[in-house]
Amino acid sequence: MIKIKNSKQIEGIRQSCRLLADVLDTAETLIVEGAIPLEIDAAVQQMIEDGGGRPAFLGYHGFPASLCFSVNEAVIHGIPGRDALKSGDIVSIDCGIELNGFFSDSAHTIAVGNVSPAVHALMKTAEESLYLGITAAQPGNRLKDISRAVYDHNHAQHYGLVRPYGGHGVGLALHEDPHISNFVGRGPNPRLKPGMVIAIEPMVNLGGDDITVLDDDWTVVTADGSVSVHYEHTVAITVDGPEILTVRRKFRT
Ligand code: MG
Ligand code: MG
Repeated sequence: MIKIKNSKQIEGIRQSCRLLADVLDTAETLIVEGAIPLEIDAAVQQMIEDGGGRPAFLGYHGFPASLCFSVNEAVIHGIPGRDALKSGDIVSIDCGIELNGFFSDSAHTIAVGNVSPAVHALMKTAEESLYLGITAAQPGNRLKDISRAVYDHNHAQHYGLVRPYGGHGVGLALHEDPHISNFVGRGPNPRLKPGMVIAIEPMVNLGGDDITVLDDDWTVVTADGSVSVHYEHTVAITVDGPEILTVRRKFRT
């Protein structure tokens, strides 16, 4: 069942999303050569709690951190550890917050120091595909219009698209219906309606589609060891079109 949120609920989700966007803005500045992921995670947890929120990932199905911290060939669900970041790494940070009972979810990939032109191109294309997916999230369109927009843009560059994971409804819980694939598969294709709140999240690999899970039972990595990137926004569908609720400071009007 896809939950339709009323305007009061959307305002609550918007507040949660603003706090998350502010936290991610600051977290990104901490992702530099020599930084320790575990310390960034601690800083993020502190910022969330200072803002009156709760890290929604911490303890979720037993996840041990506030931040998913996925380096290089890690796609999603990486656990922040003690190994210092090196120039040439790419880091996908993914975070969720519960604030006054309302949930937000957003992710971004950041380059540490110098990365190759091929990795830069992957980052650019995947981030563009997030915004193409958001643009497709118009009331009256269908769910798979989002999937198609994301898929087509990345597939045109022969990048791999992660299939077992994708976007989702969000807002009154961290993960709600519907599941939003980053490819056009089978299954229901509901019409998008005002009041839906969804997380759109392309996960894009420089190599093939396939992934595997590490022995920590969390970290999803590419099967071929190629690097992977991840971009995510929480988006409300309104009568006027999509509103990016996790909009970053620099894009706010
Ligand atoms: Mg996320
Ligand atoms: Mg998500």
